[in-house]
Amino acid sequence: MQRYFASLFGNEVILKEDDVFHLMKVMRAKNNDKIEIVDENGKAYLARIIQINPLRIVIQEPILKNSELDTKVTLFFALAKSDKIDFVIQKATELGASRIVLFEGKRSIVHFSKDDFVRKYNRYHNIAKEAAEQCHREIIPEICFAPTIKDIESFLAEVNLFAYELDAGKTNDFASIFNKRMNSLSIIVGPEGGFDEKEADYLLSKNFKTISLGKRILRCETAAVYALSVIAFNLEK
Ligand code: SAH
Repeated sequence: MQRYFASLFGNEVILKEDDVFHLMKVMRAKNNDKIEIVDENGKAYLARIIQINPLRIVIQEPILKNSELDTKVTLFFALAKSDKIDFVIQKATELGASRIVLFEGKRSIVHFSKDDFVRKYNRYHNIAKEAAEQCHREIIPEICFAPTIKDIESFLAEVNLFAYELDAGKTNDFASIFNKRMNSLSIIVGPEGGFDEKEADYLLSKNFKTISLGKRILRCETAAVYALSVIAFNLEK
């Protein structure tokens, strides 16, 4: 069943304009059709279309099943070509991340100013929103920006992981991270050119724990998907 993020007015659902278009033109909704709604507080409901023109949708009952991870996961992802960023935002959303922080790595070949990020923000937010609706989440991940690696500090989690290409293939204890419960977890993935030594030193000084993603050197977008898959799998075991 299609899910939409919307606001509620009493028990009436107020859909955004794009979602009305999607519901009517793409889903070809009819009177009495049921849809799922998530309100601004992250509460999900089953709702029913009671009138088509003008469109009226009313809440029927709460949906109790929750699809969020119990641990808040942040992905720090170095700036990469724009199709890779779009891909990673979509996949990180599907894999349960709560926040995606784009940062400019020293070896990033793409550069953004804060203004560039602000201009692109709506596009990123829409990718995350559509992915969150598609995979039935209760929240839309936040998308944030850190101009340099040092600016990630305000987003750090209880446990912070560092996917380090120089550790590729080293035996490590990625899985043992999950032996104890934690409220928040982050993972940082570097740019196509990898991390420079100073960035690695900085992360280690902030207590990041290096982890290997296997013997092969993955492309940055594959590394993000691999790491978040391992994290979601272990958190949901
Ligand atoms: N150009 C670099 C690799 C960069 S890969 C080189 O040839 O060494 C891009 C990012 O993906 C890395 O910075 C790291 O965060 C992550 N990554 C890729 N493969 C990895 C692996 N096997 N283990 C840990 N991290 C990896």
